[in-house]
Amino acid sequence: MRVIEPQKQAVTAVKPRRRLSYRVIAAVAVAIVVGFLLWPRTVASPDLSVSEPESVVPIATEDAAQEQVDRILSDSEFRQLYNNIRQPNTTPIENPPSITGSDAADRHIIELAELRGYKLRSEASGALSPVDGVRLQSDAAAAWLDMKRAAAQDGISLRLTSGFRSVADQLTIFRSRLNATGATTQNIAEGYADNDLNSVMDRAAPPGYSRHHSGYAIDMLCPGTVFERFGESRCSEWLTNDNYQNARQYGFIPSYPDDTNNQGPLPEAWEYIWVGTELTAVEPQP
Ligand SMILES: [Zn+2]
Repeated sequence: MRVIEPQKQAVTAVKPRRRLSYRVIAAVAVAIVVGFLLWPRTVASPDLSVSEPESVVPIATEDAAQEQVDRILSDSEFRQLYNNIRQPNTTPIENPPSITGSDAADRHIIELAELRGYKLRSEASGALSPVDGVRLQSDAAAAWLDMKRAAAQDGISLRLTSGFRSVADQLTIFRSRLNATGATTQNIAEGYADNDLNSVMDRAAPPGYSRHHSGYAIDMLCPGTVFERFGESRCSEWLTNDNYQNARQYGFIPSYPDDTNNQGPLPEAWEYIWVGTELTAVEPQP
């Protein structure tokens, strides 16, 4: 509900005026309280969880599904969608593994990570489908193949380079990058290695914090364009045009839409996540 702030009295208006009686003030206060209690609560419907279908806009027809894909989403709405959906066939990660073997150093790494916007994610808990050299949740794998085919029909060659990554895989990646900096456990714990940690976390999530754990995130490559410049490629243009219309048509949304920051790593234009076409229309949280 919107709160209307009383306008400030202009300082120059100092003419004597009659004081409001306490009765008037009391009546106004009662009116405000009653108004608040009677105000319809329908505006708040922020639950995006997949397991509670009543909060998800039902799709009756293909036209309705298309309407949802067509709805314009702001960058922050994409971000809210990403962070708030609960993904089927995944389990929330509650106890990520130790990175350094030292509680103090691990604690400091996680503090820094969360300051940057990294969040504990969910890990795939069921069978995954092998597709194009990686593994994905089966819905995401099927959607990927459909999207790749549609892109090819438009003369765009999309290639899949990464899908599911386990917490153990991520631990190996993170440790090896951290070791390469030469930072000692003691320096990490005492806050003397923050630059090293941040340079690692520009590109790699701590174990438990990667979007790839779910099996729904994909990294793509556009042949002829180096990995880091995916955002400038024809592939990216095809995916992002018209509020990500082509990506959303197959249930994918960008992991790192423009104009959002504090999401963990530096923005990665090559990463998308499958949420399904129904969810692209769910009202994100304010
Ligand atoms: Zn990625």
